[in-house]
Amino acid sequence: MSKKFLRKKEQKEKRKVAKERIETLFTLAERVFPYEPELANRYVKIALEVHQKVKVPIPRKWKRRYCKKCHSFLVPGVNARVRLRDKPYPHVVITCLNCGHITRYPYLREKKRRRTQKAHSS
Ligand SMILES: [Zn+2]
Repeated sequence: MSKKFLRKKEQKEKRKVAKERIETLFTLAERVFPYEPELANRYVKIALEVHQKVKVPIPRKWKRRYCKKCHSFLVPGVNARVRLRDKPYPHVVITCLNCGHITRYPYLREKKRRRTQKAHSS
């Protein structure tokens, strides 16, 4: 086995671990948010650090669950306001109630329901 091959493999492994960590951190954030929002925010920060360092994408499921500005974990109806708008294109407006930051996402694709969510087995 060449060194180059090993490095590549290592890199792949690193990305896989990073992805799993991000997923876990967001899941934890959601779980602790009701009674420890500060801790939830810390989990988000750690997840974002991993994301930046290893350059793995934030899972779609969690992409809208944090504020891009203050990095708070967002829960619609608690610390985030969610509004649907149709013009000029169908989009969701999410307002972070912590810092007032507004994020817009097109939502057409969201209509398609994701049916198969792979379980964590590999
Ligand atoms: Zn914010």
